[in-house]
Amino acid sequence: MSKIELKSLEIRPNGRTSMLISWEFAPTTEAFSDYTISLERSESPESGYTTLTTVTQNSSSYIDNDIRLFRFWKQVYVRMKIAATDGTSEYYTPVTLMAYPPDVDALEFIRRLKITLGNKRYGVGVPCYVFLRKHGGQTCKECYDPLKRRVIKSQCSTCYTVGYEGGFYDPIATYIALTPDQKQVMLTDRGSESVSAHNAYTSHYPMLSSGDLVYDARMLRLWIVGAVSTVERRRHVVKQNLMLEEVDRTSVFYRMCEERLAEVKADG
Ligand SMILES: [Zn+2]
Repeated sequence: MSKIELKSLEIRPNGRTSMLISWEFAPTTEAFSDYTISLERSESPESGYTTLTTVTQNSSSYIDNDIRLFRFWKQVYVRMKIAATDGTSEYYTPVTLMAYPPDVDALEFIRRLKITLGNKRYGVGVPCYVFLRKHGGQTCKECYDPLKRRVIKSQCSTCYTVGYEGGFYDPIATYIALTPDQKQVMLTDRGSESVSAHNAYTSHYPMLSSGDLVYDARMLRLWIVGAVSTVERRRHVVKQNLMLEEVDRTSVFYRMCEERLAEVKADG
């Protein structure tokens, strides 16, 4: 627990000239602000690494658009360099290779789906922000007990009871196709309850899972992801089908989404 370590680091083909690198840190009580973490890439496993980007505790993916997957296809190696800011320690994570070889047809399907969703004139997608829920990284100072190794408060306003600093990663802008609202009134022991659910779909990025948030900033509507099923071709996830449940208007998540969007815009 006293060191920053990776739980996962993955490289996947993203397009003809692009690859997607995503990661998650193992739970740790270390403060990320005491470290400089950089993502590095090389064409050889042991040398020649160049820095792609600096990793913050609120990022979980990086798209590398400077690669020709088919023309000069070589294996790519990626690792992270983790260095304490005070210079006391510096180490590298194990090296990762691309998870599967790029496939022309799958990447073409992804490219076309992105056009279907995001085309300015004919696109069927709605511009949304996705907030991925954290499953690792720096544990929340307010509610996580490092000795008991668990969350000890039932309501935490710092991490929204997720257990990790801030609760969610920085928003990712994407297009999501939503079906018309499905209003349903359910009779329960507390009276009638209205449920608003959507079926929706999006492309392969960002990869969603249950508990993530989808925010339509123009209409001020927020959904939580209930279930995800994926469509794959030759191991490439090409499409994600989502079950979305609308978040109650009084939820703290609305304020969180607005604040985090403002922060990201202020940082440029
Ligand atoms: Zn907390």
